[in-house]
Amino acid sequence: MEDLKFLMETAEEARKLAYCPYSHFSVGAAVLTKSNKMYIGCNIENASFGAGICAERTAIFKAFSEGEREFEAIAITGGKEGEDGHFCAPCGICRQVLSELGGDDLKVLLGSAEQYETYTLGSLFPFAFTKNNLS
Ligand SMILES: [Zn+2]
Repeated sequence: MEDLKFLMETAEEARKLAYCPYSHFSVGAAVLTKSNKMYIGCNIENASFGAGICAERTAIFKAFSEGEREFEAIAITGGKEGEDGHFCAPCGICRQVLSELGGDDLKVLLGSAEQYETYTLGSLFPFAFTKNNLS
């Protein structure tokens, strides 16, 4: 498989930008498009807790809002603020969003630049609710 360590390194850099004064759990994500562009995201919390957003959705929404429609991979790393990032699986809402915008074949890298595992979105989110369910 293609070495995507650089994508995880970028996610680690993105994690440094996290705004998490409530959970003190920082997450970084980096999305790679099929056209070889990268978009980063971090978690951004809010005193009105429901108003916060995860790193994964920040990254893919940034890319999508810039016109990107084809995605190769997303790297995700997270951990306690001030400590090294480690394996951090996306939450259910992010899996739903990644399913809609990235599809089952999207590669999902979880871990750190030192050690990560690669999954497909489809393996992490089987039987997704999709636009096909609405037709
Ligand atoms: Zn999430």
